[in-house]
Amino acid sequence: MRKAALQLTGWGRGPASSLEATRPERFSEAVAAFSEPVGAHGLCLRGAGRSYGDCALNAGGDALITTRLDRILAFDAETGIVQVEPGVDFRRLLQVFLPRGFLVPVTPGTFFATIGGAVANDVHGKNHEHAGSFCQHVTELDLVLPDGSGRTVTPEDGALFRATAGGLGLTGLITRIAFRMMRVSGGGVTVHEQRANDLEAFLTAMAVSADATYSVGWIDGAAHGTRLGRGILETAEPCDDEISRHRPRELRVPVDFPGFALNPVSIGIFNETYFRRVPEAGRTRPVAWQKFLYPLDAIHDWNRIYGRRGFIQFQCVVPFETGPAALRDLLEVISGSHRASFLAVLKRMGAGRAGYLSFPMPGYTLALDFPRRPGIEELYERLTAITLDAGGRVYLAKDALLDALTFRRMYPEFAGFSEVLASIDASSRMQSDMARRLRLREAP
Ligand SMILES: Cc1cc2nc3c(=O)[nH]c(=O)nc-3n(C[C@H](O)[C@H](O)[C@H](O)COP(=O)(O)OP(=O)(O)OC[C@H]3O[C@@H](n4cnc5c(N)ncnc54)[C@H](O)[C@@H]3O)c2cc1C
Repeated sequence: MRKAALQLTGWGRGPASSLEATRPERFSEAVAAFSEPVGAHGLCLRGAGRSYGDCALNAGGDALITTRLDRILAFDAETGIVQVEPGVDFRRLLQVFLPRGFLVPVTPGTFFATIGGAVANDVHGKNHEHAGSFCQHVTELDLVLPDGSGRTVTPEDGALFRATAGGLGLTGLITRIAFRMMRVSGGGVTVHEQRANDLEAFLTAMAVSADATYSVGWIDGAAHGTRLGRGILETAEPCDDEISRHRPRELRVPVDFPGFALNPVSIGIFNETYFRRVPEAGRTRPVAWQKFLYPLDAIHDWNRIYGRRGFIQFQCVVPFETGPAALRDLLEVISGSHRASFLAVLKRMGAGRAGYLSFPMPGYTLALDFPRRPGIEELYERLTAITLDAGGRVYLAKDALLDALTFRRMYPEFAGFSEVLASIDASSRMQSDMARRLRLREAP
């Protein structure tokens, strides 16, 4: 199959990687492209490129892009099980199935992500505490192993499933995913928003509403002193009301913003206005599924607001026990750095995870964007050190800067993952920039 020389980045638009890419349109083409000889830098798989860092990049090597493998193969309305090719994205599933009364049980905050990508990062959503991770809803996967042989893998198969769920594309090409959709009756959710004036109030509000089906918080990363950790908690329940399904108006960021556009003053003004948008007594309103689940997707190319140099997202999870103190330390470092942007999320997580390298653990997850400017590496290092000390970990789907040693300490099940890779891909054909940076192809 013809290869094209491309320069690609992750969603964070960090340094570009030059690679040779194929974009097959059919299953047979994909298997043929996947089996072609590759050079020393091996082969990497890529979906929609919505991971922030380098897990879907492969500088100097090959890449197979799955976005055109986008057929919905079968759907059983009795069981709710849908079978799709890996390039089908969450947007397509929303468009096709919501009018029929079905919704994906777990979704990331962007509907541009593909289902193949969702499996490879075992993604979580705003309902993680109750619904678990995406791969916990997968019933079966078809996988082309690095040697070109095909396998159907189920959760009962154990090690190979656990290495593929959240396995960053390193066990081979996923060509079919079967998973269970959930039934929904109405057009959306009833959302309740409430202000929390500091971190303690935020954590208490989250604990009080821990039974809510969906829960997510916006946190003011610039607030300090008595306001440290203030934010807005959003909880939501599916509702039966007919909510207008008019597609939200879509906007586009037309150019890279200049570097100075995001500065402590502009962020401070934005955060203050955003915080006060919700009345002190809180508010409750119906919101359509799309607007609730994918608020950022209404602004195409929003990653350009960080300018040409792009940005880094830091997302960690810290256990409930050590969480309050760790979050305080993290927020103090963040607000003291005067670098946080307005995109910042705090939510609770449950225990649900399906793979050796799945991110979730019971605790609090904090995610913040930082413009990529000099000194960002040192800031990231301080934040990862606090996370590690608290017994937490950072999310690989967002990461671009972690080092191999810290990764191993954060992901104690790496040994199991590594053992599977050694048994199916001894020549390390499957590769990525992240695999090299975190030494994922080396024994623990
Ligand atoms: C605005 C935004 C919000 C987000 N919110 C969340 C969130 O709430 N929760 C969450 O968990 N994540 C979230 N993410 C991260 C995102 O869901 C993941 O990074 C997801 O993996 C992206 O899917 P993709 O199709 O873009 O895959 P890519 O980023 O292109 O690739 C991701 C990984 O999948 C592998 N891969 C892709 N296709 C295949 C295949 N067919 N077979 C095997 N491996 C494959 C790649 O090798 C790579 O390792 C968010 C991202 C954005 C941009």
